[in-house]
Amino acid sequence: MSHQPVPYLDLKAQIKPLRAEIDAAISKTIDNCSFCLGPDVAQFEKDFAKYCGAEHCVAFNSGTSAEHVGLMLLGVKAGDEVITTPYTFVATSWAISYIGAKPVYVDVDDVTMNLDPKLIERAITPKTKAILPVHLYGLPFDVDAIRDIGKKYGIPLMEDACQSHGAKYKGKTVGGLGEVSCFSFYPGKNLGAFGEGGALVTNNAEFAKRARSLREHGSTVRYYHDEVGFNYRMEGIQGAVLGIKLKHLAKWTSERQRVAKRYAELLKDTPLQLPSEPSYAESVWHLYVVRHPQREELKKHLEANGVGCALHYPLPLHLQKCYAELGYKQGSFPNAEKSANQCLSLPIYPELTEEQIQRVVEVVKSFFKK
Ligand SMILES: *Cc1c(COP(=O)(O)O)cnc(C)c1O
Repeated sequence: MSHQPVPYLDLKAQIKPLRAEIDAAISKTIDNCSFCLGPDVAQFEKDFAKYCGAEHCVAFNSGTSAEHVGLMLLGVKAGDEVITTPYTFVATSWAISYIGAKPVYVDVDDVTMNLDPKLIERAITPKTKAILPVHLYGLPFDVDAIRDIGKKYGIPLMEDACQSHGAKYKGKTVGGLGEVSCFSFYPGKNLGAFGEGGALVTNNAEFAKRARSLREHGSTVRYYHDEVGFNYRMEGIQGAVLGIKLKHLAKWTSERQRVAKRYAELLKDTPLQLPSEPSYAESVWHLYVVRHPQREELKKHLEANGVGCALHYPLPLHLQKCYAELGYKQGSFPNAEKSANQCLSLPIYPELTEEQIQRVVEVVKSFFKK
């Protein structure tokens, strides 16, 4: 058994076989001087919409900005409320706060760690203008259950799909399942740019048109501004890189699924609480998050033995200093708090070898034998 360190993430391994192709594409972008938006971004938008099974994709300079514009499209205004999850990366709530609206948190399900549909209805008020759940760690939330509640009250759904490129809900790819869906192409995501990037995906042509305007200073005709907009454009070079990487995404996803399957087989007899997929969902395994009460000790043990790991996420949003004014307390959302205290992310990426998986498992098991 090899005792080579296993890095938590290894982007170099992903880039190496594509390097020549990507270098050529970047060179072409430089030759064309198409640095902001441009033909490569336009082509990527077409390809990514198709990948999601949706009509329109509008590329952004980050997932956060796509979400900001997404909530504006849904008509969320200052003083409104948006129902969302306290257990996610903080950017999910930024869009709500940027508008001056209020995040209203609802606890997650203990098994899936996604927004619990059973708890949503009692959080709805006349001010609720959108529901914003996250397909967390690559696992789709229960789209139908949540959409049905929204329909009953006339509240639209925005999917935060930033961690879930290509994930499937009842056989359908996420991204076209809400009124609006947002993706991130931050380098560590399943589909990552060479810098920042994001996208808004929708089947609504009016939304797509307004999103294009809002990302570009509120204008469709240069130097004529219909509304106050933003500079949220995707860079040309990112469009070129993403276009090449998208062709490999399906293969990368099945490699991630291979790793998850091996972890499930090899770790099933340990005391860890392992992630699982409900029958309606096919995860793309952005992260492989196990849970255990001795998470801190286990993390130290893994690191001492050269196995990289990480915490996603150690503090739920309702307990963050930036949201203290919302008035939530320790105990407000027990499942989110439990996950925050017990979560530990093991290495998972397409290039992770069987030998590396075995090494991770061996080190985990040696912790419980001590
Ligand atoms: C990464 C991420 C975002 C933000 O995307 P950026 O491209 O980093 O702005 C939003 N929500 C979730 C759940 C994310 O994982």
